[in-house]
Amino acid sequence: MRLISKNDASLVVGLIAGTIVIFQRPLRFVWETALDVQERYHVDLLPALTIFAGVFIYHEARKRQQAKAGALAAGAEAAHARMRSAELERLMTFSQALANALDPTTLQQVLWRYLPKFAGEREFWVLTRQSDRWEAFLQNTTATRTRSLEELESIADRALSRETLPDATVAGIVEGDVLCLPMVAAGVVVGVFGIHDGAAITNDQRKALGAVTGLIAIAVRNVRLLLETREHSLRDGLTNCFNRSHGLETLDGELRRARRSRQPLSILMFDIDHFKTINDELGHLRGDDLLRAVGAQLTHVLRSTDMRCRYGGDEFLIVLPDTALIGAQQVAESVRREMATLAMVAGGKTIPVTVSIGIAVAGRAELGVASLIERADAALYQAKRAGRDRLAGDQSPPAVGAS
Ligand code: GH3
Ligand code: MG
Repeated sequence: MRLISKNDASLVVGLIAGTIVIFQRPLRFVWETALDVQERYHVDLLPALTIFAGVFIYHEARKRQQAKAGALAAGAEAAHARMRSAELERLMTFSQALANALDPTTLQQVLWRYLPKFAGEREFWVLTRQSDRWEAFLQNTTATRTRSLEELESIADRALSRETLPDATVAGIVEGDVLCLPMVAAGVVVGVFGIHDGAAITNDQRKALGAVTGLIAIAVRNVRLLLETREHSLRDGLTNCFNRSHGLETLDGELRRARRSRQPLSILMFDIDHFKTINDELGHLRGDDLLRAVGAQLTHVLRSTDMRCRYGGDEFLIVLPDTALIGAQQVAESVRREMATLAMVAGGKTIPVTVSIGIAVAGRAELGVASLIERADAALYQAKRAGRDRLAGDQSPPAVGAS
């Protein structure tokens, strides 16, 4: 604790003056003794003492100045360290939040929450890129200037050119008044993080934003990989139709929805006729080709809301929401006709492709998928027994909404 501060100068002067007045006699005595010593021994005591005192005062003043500069530098360093540690903490919490974002919606929520903290008051946006197509993933509209998607895309394209990309990946690249940071994960550009007023952002801030962009890129890639894995686990690789378990799960959900909304629901079960012959005569690979073609053909015949599933082997299940018996019969007939166009040619011989289809319509009291599937299956085998290449409909229970 300092007893005397800068503001106490007048007090100090008063104290010194008082001390001189109090001790003027002993001081005069010392002064006269010094003069006496000078005279007696022929030395210049007083000028030497004056020089010593001057050097001492100068030395002390310099020490004080250096200590002050040292304290200032230490203070600045401590402030910088505090800032870095706060930044690191923000990055940590951001990366933890990103680690829990396993779907696009949660990822967007996390970015909405954290990116304003990193971008400050500036306008920012995140574009994602997949198969050379850009998509606006996030754009804050609170800023006064809102850019069109085309404008953002062309900025991103320029920033991602072959020449600039390596440097831009570290701390972004300034395009006009925009800082554009490419999001690169596993060597693949998955998007860009753009910030308006980019020229005013310092190098240190750019590096920190580069780290933020790296984290976003990893999160975007993780979400994509998860979605792809989920999608693959639901689909049959050969026909791209849903697999049996997902098909049954979807049917269960649609059945509940039909009961709640009192809307009709129909299903078709169809099976390729004499598929074994195609395998035997043309080989399993051509058999696989036919199954693949059947899956592709179904996408042309069916609505996007209809669900197609490879039930097993050469047997397929189709769920037709909001469709009563008449509609189901029409769809089944289209399927039958379209499959006939897949006839296979080998060695100058044409092997016709036909299918047999069983139709079942959900009754009002339809409780589960099992009985519905059973009826469609029974109808399918009825069509087989009746000579194949035809439909057979289950009309026994009253259909929901079909009256
Ligand atoms: P049906 O008219 O009674 O249906 O006669 P089918 O010869 O088609 O008899 P079925 O439906 O019982 O036979 C299905 C055949 O499909 C048996 C199996 O070897 C073949 N198969 C099942 N899965 C595949 C596959 O993934 N690829 C190929 N190439 N063949 C398959
Ligand atoms: Mg068959």
